[in-house]
Amino acid sequence: MKCECCKNEIKEGKTICSVCGMTLLTGDDINPTVKASVIEDIRQKYLKDTTLLLKTYEYEISDGKVTENGTKIIRLFDALQLKNDVVKMLSHDFEEVVSSRDFALEIIVRKNGKDTTHQLKFKPTKEISHKRIGVQLTPGFRCRIYVGSGDNFIASDEISLI
Ligand SMILES: [Zn+2]
Repeated sequence: MKCECCKNEIKEGKTICSVCGMTLLTGDDINPTVKASVIEDIRQKYLKDTTLLLKTYEYEISDGKVTENGTKIIRLFDALQLKNDVVKMLSHDFEEVVSSRDFALEIIVRKNGKDTTHQLKFKPTKEISHKRIGVQLTPGFRCRIYVGSGDNFIASDEISLI
């Protein structure tokens, strides 16, 4: 059975989610409004003040030479904006990079002002143009980053948001 709050798989015979502590609520006697508010409280407890950021590198070309010209942090989403069943796309087109080779992105999870940086590797199975970025919540308050364009996207491994 899946936890109704964080979608983590709850082991047979257990009544409490090992990730978020939500109690399995079964039966018809549970008021849906009460249930929704319990779920919302737990989401708030684990995901509030948590933001996903992308670190990008800026380059300059002059006289045929490419030099790195600092970094820029782009805010992707607050964790509370994310959903399990949808990939939320950022309304921002990045400079188009076409690649058929592995590449990495630096994603920062900022929680209560404390940063955890993840190097996420992407392995294109064919040439992919990565111009847009999206995020999807995965079970256990984790997430995946998607990059691509059109309907051609590849996903990263999952990272934890808690
Ligand atoms: Zn849970």
